[in-house]
Amino acid sequence: MLAPPLRKRSVLPILAPHWYDFGPPDFATSGFSPSRSHACAPHPFRIHLYQTESIVQIVHYPDPVLRQVAAPVAEITEEIRRAVGEMFELMYEAPGVGLAAPQVGWGARLFVVNPAAHPDEGEEYVFINPKITGKKGATFADEGCLSIPGVMGSVRRAKWIQMEATDLEGNRFRIDAQDLLARIIQHEQDHLDGILFTDKVSDADRPDIERQLESIQSPPQPQ
Ligand SMILES: [Zn+2]
Repeated sequence: MLAPPLRKRSVLPILAPHWYDFGPPDFATSGFSPSRSHACAPHPFRIHLYQTESIVQIVHYPDPVLRQVAAPVAEITEEIRRAVGEMFELMYEAPGVGLAAPQVGWGARLFVVNPAAHPDEGEEYVFINPKITGKKGATFADEGCLSIPGVMGSVRRAKWIQMEATDLEGNRFRIDAQDLLARIIQHEQDHLDGILFTDKVSDADRPDIERQLESIQSPPQPQ
């Protein structure tokens, strides 16, 4: 168990699932094996919530916060736990399978994941101050992003990854992930460094993606 289970939430009806953040879940290829490690460097910076009362919404491209490098989390406080709970709620409402703090305007190095995109299914993971320590293999698959609704493109990612992170209890742990879970983690980790999946789309998808991003930045004006 990577993170303590958060409270169960009421389930919003999902009438027309749109699998932003990488298509429908596929548990058959979503391998996961946690192991704990306490080799953890101290984190020098304290982060602050942009919104001190509650996180209200997902920010969208081209909001500049999506391009900022997030700061390490210095301490796991009640405020952090509450914010993480709200991030899960936003992710499920979307629905999505991963959400990084910069996507809610919060410049902190943490993200949440549930490959099932549903509060009553799959498993909830919280990755704080995560660091990818190993990568192997390569696969292409379509990705989307809750911060860039309606845009999807094929992205090359490592098939297997190894990662270190801190959980909500403040414990450093290490995981090996593959396929879908590895892809989600790599996508969310990129958000912490201001990198969007659209930066990494395949050459074949690039012209179409650039056209779509252009139309988001300069939407057609009503006549
Ligand atoms: Zn994203």
